[in-house]
Amino acid sequence: MSRNIPPVTGMKDVLSADIGLWQHVERSWRAVADAYGYEEIRVPVVEHTELFKRAIGEYTDVVEKEMYTFTDQGGDSLTLRPEATAGIVRACISNGLLRGARLKLWCQGPMFRHEKPQKGRFRQFNQIDLEAIGFAGPDVDIEIIALTARLWKQLGLTRVKLQINSLGTPESRKAYRALLQDYFRRHLDALDDDGKRRLEGNPLRILDSKHPPTQEIVKNAPVLTEHLDAESTAHFAELRAGLDALGIPYTVNPRLVRGLDYYSRTVFEWITDALGSQDAVCSGGRYDGLIAQMGGEATPAIGFAMGVERVVELVRLAGMTAPANLPDVFVMAQGDAAQRGALALAEKLRDELPGHGIVVHCGSAKFKTQFRRADESGARVALVIGEDELARGVVALKPLKGAENTQSEYPVAEIGARVAEFLRRST
Ligand code: ATP
Ligand code: MG
Repeated sequence: MSRNIPPVTGMKDVLSADIGLWQHVERSWRAVADAYGYEEIRVPVVEHTELFKRAIGEYTDVVEKEMYTFTDQGGDSLTLRPEATAGIVRACISNGLLRGARLKLWCQGPMFRHEKPQKGRFRQFNQIDLEAIGFAGPDVDIEIIALTARLWKQLGLTRVKLQINSLGTPESRKAYRALLQDYFRRHLDALDDDGKRRLEGNPLRILDSKHPPTQEIVKNAPVLTEHLDAESTAHFAELRAGLDALGIPYTVNPRLVRGLDYYSRTVFEWITDALGSQDAVCSGGRYDGLIAQMGGEATPAIGFAMGVERVVELVRLAGMTAPANLPDVFVMAQGDAAQRGALALAEKLRDELPGHGIVVHCGSAKFKTQFRRADESGARVALVIGEDELARGVVALKPLKGAENTQSEYPVAEIGARVAEFLRRST
């Protein structure tokens, strides 16, 4: 016997037992996105490696260590997307969508990062991503946070908490960056290799280091919010006032950063205490400088990404069980001619009863076995065609789930109406 081929490390199957929860999250998301007038966009899973290097930045975990990069047959360096913003911005530029446009977009799909797999952290995972492009805020910043808060409410999630911060503008950050470099140079011993490398390239990234000695030093580092320019201070005050007005609680976390130059002003993160150490559920921020850096005309924008696996897990922990997608009708037959009749009957019912699931028993089996499978399917009514029924042009209708122990016969022409009537009565 040949050896089984295992799945790729860190890449998971979502089995049908879990699909109900996924679809529940996805349906709720669509309803919320629609309610705010955001539109779906779909972009490729693979892009030129250069796109992510430029959009995400060289001094990030994602670009330094986590990208799935390969050379294709034509010699191009391509990368499986680790996030969606870069591709969406590229799509807006490639399709000429900018030109002063105001775009409210979202996207959902798999992302790929070569990380150490653990609970809540995978190498292929799904994100729901939203971008508001062409808006300087802070009104739209408030709107997209309200949108996420509405999603949690819709999903019944209470164990998610909002943190916000402001990064100011790249100009005002320069002075702060110098202060930060001074500070960390005085504590060089506490930095790990990543920290030392980032000290020159991107010292803000040290603030969200996961290295414990570095975290200790970070506690007393200068605080960015105390070094904001006047306009960013006003923007941040308005963001807070807007969240207050909508009754959305938050805490200001001065350590919440994005290390790249094109990030500006608002950053936020929804974190949870319900998932252990992988506690970030949704992270977002304003990236007013990115689009120009990608070669598009300067356009302010803000967006966020949420980890769908983590949201699904929170929904499960909240005790939500998605309604199972059960069929209504189970059609069974015995003998080749009757089986053909069963397939034809099922097609007719699907025409006549849209919105109802009609399952046909495939493969031959005793009626006793077929009835057991019908019960297991969760269907409410069985339709039976034996050789005798076939010869007489009738179908037997038998309620399932022990509802009534009766069985009646109807001519094939009538069966759609009879089933419809039965389903109406038995709900
Ligand atoms: P972390 O600090 O947990 O690595 P991140 O800063 O890399 O997070 P983002 O790039 O902001 O995360 O991604 C947005 C969201 O996507 C995260 O808040 C998280 O919910 C989810 N996410 C990120 N990486 C993974 C992963 N490897 N597996 C599952 N979900 C992930
Ligand atoms: Mg990460």
